[in-house]
Amino acid sequence: IPVDPFDLVVFGGTGDLARRKILPGLYRRYVAGQIPEGSRIIGSARGDMDDAGYRDFASEAISEFLDGTKRDPQSVARFLDHLYYVPTDARGENGWPDLAKRVRADVVQAFYFSVAPSLFGDLAERLHRHGIAGPEARIVVEKPFGRDLETAKELNATLAEHFDESQIYRIDHYLGKETVQNLMAVRFANILFEPLWNARHVDHVQITVAETVGVGGRGAYYDTSGAMRDMVQNHLMQLLCLIAMEPPYRFDPDAVRDEKLKVIRALLPAAPEDIVRGQYRGRTGKGSPKQASYSEDAENPSSTTESFIAMKVHIANWRWKGTPFYLRTGKRLRGRASEIAIVFKEVPHSIFGDEEGWRENVLSIRLQPDEGMTLSVMIKEPGPGGMRLTEVPLDMSFAEALGEDGADIPDAYERLIMDVIRGNQTLFMRGDEVEAAWAWTDPLIAAWEARGDKPKGYDAGSSGPEDALMLLHRDERRWREIR
Ligand code: NAD
Repeated sequence: IPVDPFDLVVFGGTGDLARRKILPGLYRRYVAGQIPEGSRIIGSARGDMDDAGYRDFASEAISEFLDGTKRDPQSVARFLDHLYYVPTDARGENGWPDLAKRVRADVVQAFYFSVAPSLFGDLAERLHRHGIAGPEARIVVEKPFGRDLETAKELNATLAEHFDESQIYRIDHYLGKETVQNLMAVRFANILFEPLWNARHVDHVQITVAETVGVGGRGAYYDTSGAMRDMVQNHLMQLLCLIAMEPPYRFDPDAVRDEKLKVIRALLPAAPEDIVRGQYRGRTGKGSPKQASYSEDAENPSSTTESFIAMKVHIANWRWKGTPFYLRTGKRLRGRASEIAIVFKEVPHSIFGDEEGWRENVLSIRLQPDEGMTLSVMIKEPGPGGMRLTEVPLDMSFAEALGEDGADIPDAYERLIMDVIRGNQTLFMRGDEVEAAWAWTDPLIAAWEARGDKPKGYDAGSSGPEDALMLLHRDERRWREIR
């Protein structure tokens, strides 16, 4: 969908996120013909730099973070012509009059706050006071959106002083993933799934976001956060909402977000025995490089912050009463894989007798790697060996299904930035959603803090702590394998 010419200001334009995601993503959209001539991308940060310096910076970022097949020198040069740089200090007055002169009032205006959340208020206030942001301007804010309900409310209130909710785009890049959006298409554009999409037919749901990386250089930040705050409260919660929500009356931003909010409000508090927290232990490993343990990566060696969490969650409504949702996420696990698995119930009666090979149907939605969906179905094992059943996948890899275009699926950031320019908030979290999510996680965190619970150790490169396996064993279920 074409967009109107725009001015996009990237505050924190020299930061890590701008280098890795925002600038390479914008270049890719330029190549796809989605950045109309006359649009401008204005980097802004505290450091001194001129337009030429910023173009060099962006050119290096594109070379570093896009592989050779996805860029070419001529189009990079043409893209760079759209880039400018204006130094501003979020906490001071330097640079703001210059920015006011650069940003046009008669085009779409977007301001990406790719800076620490402690600066959001300063930026919002200065954009307003210097008359830079018009009534239709959009602001984009990054995670973390608060560290609990109180701080999230403060952030929302600060932004609300200068911007209407319809102007605020809170990014959760999981929502920009092709498969995640496709989940809505699969659910609401097919007759096939809806009749089965409830506690009568779904035995349970598993949501896994497994990372192989540790906390690396982010130890100081991570210590104040942990898997619950860093991953569950936002990403896993958003995925859960999209699976569990009722059909919105229309594919409209507020209609979708209203339904997601109802899911969060219907979540029961998770019982302490249904939460397993873990922390990775290092490994010397034969032939592989030594991996540090969490206590070495973290700032505080005796930190009790969890790098892994698994939990069983119930949604108290008609559709889902009795169907548990198992959530699991962690660092330094054996594979990098994000998957949602809808595990269906057994057939009510097997006409084939006690079939050894029988498996439940599973709809698996892979977010990474290799975005796609698989529905496992039972068929007869081919051949003359009698009526033996075997499981086969009905497999759809997006890269394959879309042929050459498939390899070119836009990155989540690319899509979300273009949605901002189009003024479409569907894939962005609304303020009340974020607050409701914190309202659910806060008491769980407070309870384990009050009990003084320590996370269970797990080996780097494993599937997480033993207790997490037990969480499902107890219910006579099994986690899906992390590959
Ligand atoms: P960073 O530290 O690499 O960059 C921060 C940027 O802010 C720099 O350009 C710096 O010059 C600028 N800045 C700092 N103080 C300033 C001031 N007073 N006035 C003007 N500019 C100032 O940070 P980052 O990793 O790019 O992260 C930016 C935001 O995105 C943070 O909110 C972070 O939590 C979030 N985020 C980052 C990632 C990531 O992969 N890097 C992922 C998710 C969310």
